Amino acid sequence: MNKTVETAINEQIKHEMDSAYLYLSMAAYCESKNLSGFAHWMRKQFEEEMGHALRLYDFVIDRGGRVLLNAIEKPTADFGAPAEIFKKVLEHEQKVTGLINKLYELAVKESDYPTQVELHWFIKEQVEEEKSASSILEQVKMVGEHGPALHRMDRILARRGEQS
Ligand code: MG
Repeated sequence: MNKTVETAINEQIKHEMDSAYLYLSMAAYCESKNLSGFAHWMRKQFEEEMGHALRLYDFVIDRGGRVLLNAIEKPTADFGAPAEIFKKVLEHEQKVTGLINKLYELAVKESDYPTQVELHWFIKEQVEEEKSASSILEQVKMVGEHGPALHRMDRILARRGEQS
């Protein structure tokens, strides 16, 4: 496959692993704050990000390319109040959207059509990621930091993955 694109996808695999690691760190943080529903949501997100990394990993291999893993970063450990956590989730997903868009631009520049098609899935996924992060952020902001409303929100987030 196109070497420039291959290198860039290997870098994106790292970014997806960074995302996974960030969400696992958020899960651990939420556990430490007794927000087990929040922690469950973050852990599901961690699993999704691992899935994204593996999807790109498989794509490189299917194209006859070579996966070379890059070092992942040590994630932040402290995330503040519940609304702060989801503010960081949204900001992170917006950053990832930018990375995916850049990768797509490269695939266009390099006339790499299979990569463009593969990235359509990621572009749509980012719309979903941003939508879900901003909708939860709005709810958590209304709920505030303490009390029964936060507990109810925690119970709602605990149900992620039950129905779908
Ligand atoms: Mg991702």
